[in-house]
Amino acid sequence: MSGNSTHPRGGPPYVGRIPEILTGQKALVTGGSTGIGAACVRALAEAGADVAINYRSDPSSAESLAEDVRSLGRAAMTVQADVSSEEQVESMVSEAVDRLGTIDILVNNAGLQADAPFEEMTLDQWRRVIDVNLTGQFLCTRAVVREFKRRGVVPEVSCAAGKIINMSSVHDAIPWAGHVNYAASKGGVQMFTKSIAQELAPRKIRAIILSPGAIRTNINRPAWESQEAYDDLMKLVPLDRIGEPSDIGRVLVWLASDFSDYISGTTIYVDGGMMLYPGFAEGG
Ligand code: NAD
Repeated sequence: MSGNSTHPRGGPPYVGRIPEILTGQKALVTGGSTGIGAACVRALAEAGADVAINYRSDPSSAESLAEDVRSLGRAAMTVQADVSSEEQVESMVSEAVDRLGTIDILVNNAGLQADAPFEEMTLDQWRRVIDVNLTGQFLCTRAVVREFKRRGVVPEVSCAAGKIINMSSVHDAIPWAGHVNYAASKGGVQMFTKSIAQELAPRKIRAIILSPGAIRTNINRPAWESQEAYDDLMKLVPLDRIGEPSDIGRVLVWLASDFSDYISGTTIYVDGGMMLYPGFAEGG
């Protein structure tokens, strides 16, 4: 079977449509025009939410995704911003609030890698990854939390005043040689999110870490594109298939909904069992 087929080892079972459990809610998804972010946008819209799609540099794919959202009968807008820029984040959030009315759900998804052997890693590579993956989440969360606090709980919309879902990675727990900037940024996302969850809980604001394993997107194309690479990758995945972006979208909807209202400050791994240390399945 070809490693380039959609599900080289069988994909997720058909699980049907996502139920409309976010009706009337407004979501902002950063890095929302590609990969996991785009799947989150689609899942949120299917669940009934209106969506602001942030992109950094490609308006056309963001706009075509917005059209898909509108075809489901939801409102959609696109908004350009570099999440590592304080000024751009402030204006993105105020534009989203102006046009959608408010924000109930923030998905801090934007992220990147700039890999290098440790002693060759430049300060620019280090800073770029920390600035986007960690400082970006700080800036977006701070701006949106001000709106959550201003608005408070609207019981007919949600029993929380706001939900923050921060995209992390299994590398917030699994060390990753050759990617120390990325692992450090995602480790930082863990304690950032837990600390804001503690601080904001009295205001009925929830913050959750969503940590994917290997998901089929552009960020990790070399790890799944050839059959050989895919087979190697599967040694790390007990469920023996790569994750699809929709695997993340479905969990995100649940985390953003009142069905998970008693969850805050914890990490949900969506990783096909990668966190089970599969190397220990035999021997050890
Ligand atoms: P992706 O490259 O398709 O998505 C990353 C998105 O972030 C892109 O749309 C990109 O334009 C955007 N982005 C980058 N820098 C930005 C900036 N400064 N401002 C605004 N947007 C910016 O890859 P993906 O796999 O969909 O990644 C999404 C998130 O999931 C990332 O945070 C990534 O670390 C995380 N993740 C992915 C995997 C995986 O296996 N694919 C695993 C664990 C975690």
